[in-house]
Parts: sequence; structure tokens; C-alpha cells
Amino acid sequence: MLEDTKILEEILNKMRSELFEEIKVTLKSESDTTTKDKVGDIYDLASDERDRELSLLISDRDRKKISEIDEALERIKDGSYGSCEECDTNIPKQRLLIMPFARLCVNCKSEHEKQGSHEKKFKEEREYRKLAFTTSEDEDS
Ligand SMILES: [Zn+2]
Repeated sequence: MLEDTKILEEILNKMRSELFEEIKVTLKSESDTTTKDKVGDIYDLASDERDRELSLLISDRDRKKISEIDEALERIKDGSYGSCEECDTNIPKQRLLIMPFARLCVNCKSEHEKQGSHEKKFKEEREYRKLAFTTSEDEDS
């Protein structure tokens, strides 16, 4: 597993730098020169500081991706990487190779998704009941 973790760490680091590269290109292609200058300045900073500064300029979607990658790298460092947050079983390597930042095993993940749809159903039912109630009230008046 140690070897595998090393490979996954490399994948994560690569994903991270590619993401930053992408962001840099996007920001550079913007016509706004102040942004361009800002990005230039940012790249002179130490990487920690740079990432923080850069995160102010990027979209929520990219920021989410970066934080997922960062969290996975943190978990590699503290040794909790590769096991499911819910049930503690080892997440299969195949899954990690596809989704290196996965935090849940397939079982827990699908449980979560099921729960999500239950909540949605419950909400819809409640909406329906509210609607039914309103309708009957209307009939009374
Ligand atoms: Zn699990």
C-alpha cells in the first residue's frame, strides 16, 4: 500500500499543478491587465502564499477541486488516506486511481446518495401536503 500511496500522491500533485496551470492560463487570457499583473505578482510569492492569493481569483468550482486535492494530500500525510471516512474499510486502489480524492468507499457513497434522494422525496412530499392543505383551505372559504 505504501508504494500505491506514493503513486497516488504523485497523481494528486500532478492534478493540482495542472489545475493551477489551467487557472493561470484562464486568468492570463483575460483582457484585464490588472488581473494579469496580479497573477504575475502572485507567481513570485512562496507557494503557500501564492495559492492563497490565487484562490481569491478563481471560481468556486476550481476552489472546491483544489481543496479536495489538498485534503487528500493531507490525509496521505497523516496516514488516514485510502480508508473510508464512514466505515473505515480500505477504498480499493482501482477506485482511488479514478478518484484519488475519494473519501468514501463505494458502499457508503451510494448510501449517501440514497439518503440524498430520500431527503428530496421527503421535501417533495411535504411540498405536496402543503399544497393539498392550501387547496382545501381555499375550498372552505
Ligand atoms: Zn465505507
